[in-house]
Amino acid sequence: MIKIDEIGKYWTDMYLNEPLKYKEAIKGHEGVCCCIHGCKLGMGESCPVYWNGSGPCEMCEKIWSRYKDKPINKELWGLVSIPDSIKGNGKENKMTLKPQNNLVELIGVYGGDQEHASSAWTSTSRNMSPEKISRIPKLLNMLAKDGHHTPFEKSSIHFLVTTEIASHIHIIKHRIGVAVNGESARYKELKDDKFFVPNDWDNEERANYVKFMEDAYKQYHNALERLQKKYVDEGGMTEADARKRAKESARLYLPYGNQIQADVMFNFRSFYHFLSLRYSTHAQKEIRDIARQMLEQVVATNKFKHTLEAFELTDSNGNIRKPFTDHFHLPKFE
Ligand SMILES: Cc1cc2nc3c(=O)[nH]c(=O)nc-3n(C[C@H](O)[C@H](O)[C@H](O)COP(=O)(O)OP(=O)(O)OC[C@H]3O[C@@H](n4cnc5c(N)ncnc54)[C@H](O)[C@@H]3O)c2cc1C
Repeated sequence: MIKIDEIGKYWTDMYLNEPLKYKEAIKGHEGVCCCIHGCKLGMGESCPVYWNGSGPCEMCEKIWSRYKDKPINKELWGLVSIPDSIKGNGKENKMTLKPQNNLVELIGVYGGDQEHASSAWTSTSRNMSPEKISRIPKLLNMLAKDGHHTPFEKSSIHFLVTTEIASHIHIIKHRIGVAVNGESARYKELKDDKFFVPNDWDNEERANYVKFMEDAYKQYHNALERLQKKYVDEGGMTEADARKRAKESARLYLPYGNQIQADVMFNFRSFYHFLSLRYSTHAQKEIRDIARQMLEQVVATNKFKHTLEAFELTDSNGNIRKPFTDHFHLPKFE
């Protein structure tokens, strides 16, 4: 049994910490307030009211007053029906702010264990026989440990990452075998107002931060309009040039927590190098979490099983290792 006032926290924690699971869980309930299913405020994913510690929104308060202190079974959640008389129309208190985790989506893969092995065997013969296939794990292990790493460049691993700015900077520091394209606040007005919230902040810190972000986005959108007008009226620019300059300069109002989307592609060798530095206790938690999400999704493809094992990223059962603790990890000779 779970008390009604724990429900908002339950969903909010899931929303912040396991956004994919949350998305799945609210399927069909989109637009429904997260502090109690049934509130048709239309806030859904963007409701920061409960979790920022300031209590439920006005409409939910009405609903809560009916159920407060009444233990309810989580399974019955979707069955709590709200009388039409207190349902909203989906517009009240609607917030555009979208706090969320950094998100990783694997959007494409080329190659894997067999392509890495074929590449190495090009020096003798690429022909595969069942006997050679059985030797792939041993070969990949030897290549990884010997530093014979060019065969591992023959695969491509392609991600879409929604990331705050600090982690985006960490990603673009990697120059070799990594191709990054980012969403540009220079070329478009960022309208989503989506931002990252550290999951190790307490409610008070989160509440301050949400207020700050709300203000920052307001300033950003207002400055964009104001500057555009001024560039035309006082600077004599064309509308198009004024808009362009307003976009690229108004973005200076956007803080580090603002999230953008980045398209990031590695080959396996550069992916390993990235992980050795970023899936590490020395790296900032946020980029380490991104690296972990990337690794989990690559493991799930099942295409890199022996390569991952050779580089000590997984054990023989496919379990992902703990973050590296050494400053610069290289697979060791056995
Ligand atoms: C814990 C941590 C803290 C950090 N702190 C800071 C910081 O305070 N400030 C900061 O600016 N950066 C910082 N960085 C970023 C760091 O300096 C690197 O820019 C980043 O990790 C990319 O690493 P890389 O150069 O090995 O990767 P890549 O650029 O992908 O290069 C891969 C490899 O290619 C080789 N290579 C690449 N370019 C050259 C070259 N020009 N000449 C010779 N060999 C080359 C190297 O062997 C290199 O390891 C930090 C990184 C980490 C992991």
